[in-house]
Order: sequence, then C-alpha cells, then structure tokens
Amino acid sequence: MSLQVKILIIVLAVVCLYAALDYTCQRFLVLPSFVAMEHNEAQNTMRHCIGMIRREISDLNKLTKNWAASDQTYQSVEDRNSRDSSTNLGVESLTKNNLNLIYICDIRGNVVWGEIRDIETNEAIQLKELPGGRWSQTHPLLGHKTVQSYTTGIFMTERGPMLIASRPIITSRNEGPIRGTFITGRFLDDSVLEEVTAHVPVDLKLWTIADDFVPAEEREVLNHLKAESQFHIRQARDNLLHVYTLFSDIQEVPALLMRADIPQDIRTKGIARLIRSSFLSNLTAGLSVMLVLLLLLQQTVVTPVRKLTSHVVAIGKARDMSARLSMQRSDEIGVLAQEFNCMVEQLSQAREKLLEQSFSLGKAEMASKVLDETRKRAAELEEAYRKLENANQELKDFAHIVSHDLKAPLRGIKTIADWILTDYTDKFDEDGRKQMNSLSSRVEWMYKLIEGVLEYSRVGRVKEERVEVDLNKVVPEIIDVVAAPENIVITVENELPAIECEKTRITQVFENLLSNAIKYMDKPQGQIKIGCVEEDGFWKFSVADNGHGIEERHFERIFQIFQTVEQHDKFESTGVGLTVIKKIVELYDGKIWVESKVGEGSTFFFTLPKQEMRAKNVQLEASITC
Ligand code: ADP
Repeated sequence: MSLQVKILIIVLAVVCLYAALDYTCQRFLVLPSFVAMEHNEAQNTMRHCIGMIRREISDLNKLTKNWAASDQTYQSVEDRNSRDSSTNLGVESLTKNNLNLIYICDIRGNVVWGEIRDIETNEAIQLKELPGGRWSQTHPLLGHKTVQSYTTGIFMTERGPMLIASRPIITSRNEGPIRGTFITGRFLDDSVLEEVTAHVPVDLKLWTIADDFVPAEEREVLNHLKAESQFHIRQARDNLLHVYTLFSDIQEVPALLMRADIPQDIRTKGIARLIRSSFLSNLTAGLSVMLVLLLLLQQTVVTPVRKLTSHVVAIGKARDMSARLSMQRSDEIGVLAQEFNCMVEQLSQAREKLLEQSFSLGKAEMASKVLDETRKRAAELEEAYRKLENANQELKDFAHIVSHDLKAPLRGIKTIADWILTDYTDKFDEDGRKQMNSLSSRVEWMYKLIEGVLEYSRVGRVKEERVEVDLNKVVPEIIDVVAAPENIVITVENELPAIECEKTRITQVFENLLSNAIKYMDKPQGQIKIGCVEEDGFWKFSVADNGHGIEERHFERIFQIFQTVEQHDKFESTGVGLTVIKKIVELYDGKIWVESKVGEGSTFFFTLPKQEMRAKNVQLEASITC
C-alpha cells in the first residue's frame, strides 16, 4: 500500500472519528437542551390551554356580573317575583349565550329561577349537586359577603365538570344589600375543549379524579403531580409529548386530570436539523481538512519520500553508486537524504576496496596456481628428460657396443680380402682383381662409418676434465696435424680467445672443419681463414674457404648423420664429421651454421658462450631445482 493511500485512510479515519465525536456531543449535550426547550414549550402550551379555560370562566364571570348587577334582577329577587318576564331571562338566554345553566337564588338559598339544559338537544337536565328547590346555606356557590365577591372555576357535577360563575345579586350601581346569588354554568365538554385548542395544535383530554375515571396507565401520573410540580411530562409514541396537570374545583380540590398531547416538533426538527447540520458541517470540515492535509502532506512528506524512494530503487536497479540525491531541506527528510548520500558514498568506497582486495587475492591465487602448475610441469619435464637421457644413454651405449663389435669382423674381412688379393693375384683376371679391390675399399669405408658412429657416440658419453684452453696455442697445433697441401694456405685472422672446455672436443671441432675445407678445396690456390669475433656474449668462430661451395638446399642436411652432398667414394666421405661438430657445439650451448656460394667457397660459423660453459644437462638440472 502506498504512503499516499495510507495517509488518505488515516485522514478518513480521523474525519470519521471527528464526525462520531461531534455527533455524540450533539446527541448528549445539544439534544438534551432541545428536549428541555421542548418540555418548556409543552408546559407553556399547557399553560396557554389552562389560560384559555380560565378566559372562558372569566367571560362567564363577566356575563354573570352583568346579570347579577342588574336592577331588574335585584328587584325581582326582592319581590320574590320569579316570573320570567321580570328578569328577562329565559331558555333562550341559555342558548343565546351558549350556557347550560342559569340559577337565581335568594339570600336564603331558595332558587328564585333556574334552568339547566343540554344546549344541543335543549332538554332540561336535573343535577343533584344543583337542585331546583332550596340549597344549603353552605353551598359553595352561595354565601357572598360583599358586593365584589364572586366564585368562579370548575364545579363537578354528575354529568361532568362545569365552568361556573357565581356572583351576588346587587344593584346596577354595585350596591347592596345583597339579595341573593346569580349563577351561570357551562359544561366543560368537547365543544369547550375545541374552542380552547382552536389556535393551538394540541389535543386535550380530561378525566374526573373523584369518580375514578382516570385510566390505569395515567394513575401514577396523579401521584407525580400531587407530589412534585404543576406539570408532568411523559414521552409518548408517535412523536407525541403528554403534558399532564391537575385542575382544581372552586373549593381548590384537585378535580380534573388534564392531558395535552403535543407533537414533538422541536425534538423532531431538532434531531433532523442536528443530523443535517452535523452531517453538513462534518462533511465540509472533513473535506476541507482532508484536502488541506493531503496537500500539505503531499508537499512536505509524500513527494520528498517518493523522490527518496525512487532514488533508492534506481540505485538498487542500476547499481550506480555515483548517483547522489539533491534535496535542500532542513527537516528530517533532508537529514535522511544527506545520511543516505553519505551511506552510498561509504558503500561505494567499501565496494572499491573490496574489489581491489579480491583482485589482489585473485592475482595471488592465480600466481599460486601458475606456480603449482609450473612445478608440476617442471617435475614432468624432469621425469621426461630423465627418461630421454636414459634412452639416449642406452642408444649411445648400444651404438657404441654395436660399432665396437662390428669393427673386429670388418677388420678381419679387410685383412682376408687383402691377403686373397696378394696371394691369389695371378689367379684373378682383371675383372676379378677389380672386384676384390672394390670389396676391400667398401669394407674400408664401412669401417670408417663405424669409426664415425663410435666417435659420435663418444661425444657427451665420455667425460673429460674441463680446462682452460688457449686457442691461440691449440689451433696452430691442429693446423700442423691436418697437414694441408702446399697449394692451400691456412691463416688465423685475429687473436683467438681462451675458453674453458674439454680440449679433445674443441680440437675435434677445428680439426673436422679444417679437414673438410682442405678435402673440398677445388682451387689451385686454396685459402682457409680462421676468425673469431665477440657477439652478444658469445665467441663467434668462423672457418672460411674458397672451395667449390655448397648449394643452399643442402645447408641443413649436411649436419645430419651419414648425409653427404657428393658420392661417398669420391671424397671418401662418411657424412659424420659435421654431425659430431654440431653435437659438441650444442653441448656447450652454442650454434653452428654454414653460409656458402657454389664455386666461391663456404664459411662455417659456430658460437660458444663467453661465460663459464656448462653442459646442457647441468643447466637443466639447475633450472628444475629452481
Ligand atoms: P664427410 O666430409 O666425411 O663427407 P662431413 O659431415 O664432414 O662428412 O661433411 C658432409 C658433407 O658436407 C660433405 O660430404 C661435403 O659434401 C660437404 N662439405 C663439408 N665441408 C665442406 C666444405 N668445406 N666445402 C664443401 N663441401 C663441404
């Protein structure tokens, strides 16, 4: 869930909580005031109804006063003349004034004139509380002592409560003496109640208390009213409020229970308004707060946090540690961004260090592997070299043994062939002698071949002490030994060095080269030149002649054993001499090669290292040990 949605939900929850709190406040603080107001209004309505009834009574009192303070009434009572004509009163007086009762009593309580009728049916009514003959002197409606005296209120009859007014009969000038009592009455029936409630939207109900007409469910209200206050209010169904009060009769005795059913406009409207206003105010406030909060949060929190998040995600995806977040803020988010930048910086440095270390480790590991591999290969090479050396030695031994063993029989064959040729020379014809000479010379050549092989196998196999050999002394001795013919001049071109080697071997090298140069000299003035120069840490020797030369295609071949350019028998060559030289030179870590032009001559070069010369096997041994 995104931060924005979370904030929205929190704000919504806060607004809902606020709405609930607001509603609770309204419900338990504001609404009770509405109820109190409504109760107050209900009491006022009830007072108004009571006032209306009292006004009816007051009107009745005024009417009664008019009749009671009339000279005609006064005179007629005085004369005890109770004729209708004398009082101008009749049944029509009742109908006309909407009255049910008119009584005129004299001072002793005798009814001078009286009438009680039902207004609607015009039937005469008898009421035991208001009899037609003589009333008791203590009757509550009689006994006015002053001219101003009057009695008004509710009078309970067997047919129900009656609005009544009683006044003393006096002169029209309000003077006495009082001649009697004038009484008017009207039943407090539905018609009166309708008049009372004509301008008030209530429904009035009356119950007589004395005769126990009060319904069971209203009876406890009586106790409340008697014990508590003037009014008692009860919540009824259908949004009605029942307001009760007691109405006393003219003797101030509670006689009637009156109930006004009042619609709960205030409460109903109040709740509706409360809900509406609460809803509207909450909605408006909530939306405004939400909007402002969202805008503020968006600007101050969500946007920077989103920027920070996308930056972090981008670094995570691209693994680009060089990216930095630019956020100029002094609050916590700004501090977080700065700290994050620092963290990335440190991470980047740590990563680089780690890379360097792992690179070094890798190099070390690689070097160790290479060293291991080299050691392994060197060991293998040493083993191979050892085997090769053994094989080579065996081969040399074999060649030496075979050559050595072949020499004796060959020498025997040669001797026998010579003997045969000497002893039986007269027995052979020319061709026979030729064949025998050929046999002898071929055996001789084969003997030389074997000699050559023996010589070759001796190189390296037969060890000799190494000594310092001064070539300036040795080479002239060799020149003497080879005994060049007179037409060939051998010269040493420059001073020769002294080298540490086996004297026999170096003698062999110079001897073979000089012998070849003499052997293959075809010029009448033969020249053989011996030279030596220093080159790249080596002594480079040369033996040059002006003989018939060698074709370039034979340059390599002539250094291989038994390989000759000409026929064997032409120069009695074996093809071993150069092979032996090559073996000796390479044994001393040198090289040999030839440069030649056919018809002009040949120059044989060979090199020997200037430093102490060691045998190849010794050198190899040392390198393997390293
Ligand atoms: P050999 O001399 O016994 O034949 P070598 O091995 O000494 O055997 O020489 C091989 C061949 O090289 C010779 O047969 C010869 O043809 C050629 N060769 C050697 N030295 C010379 C030289 N100085 N001039 C011309 N050819 C030569």
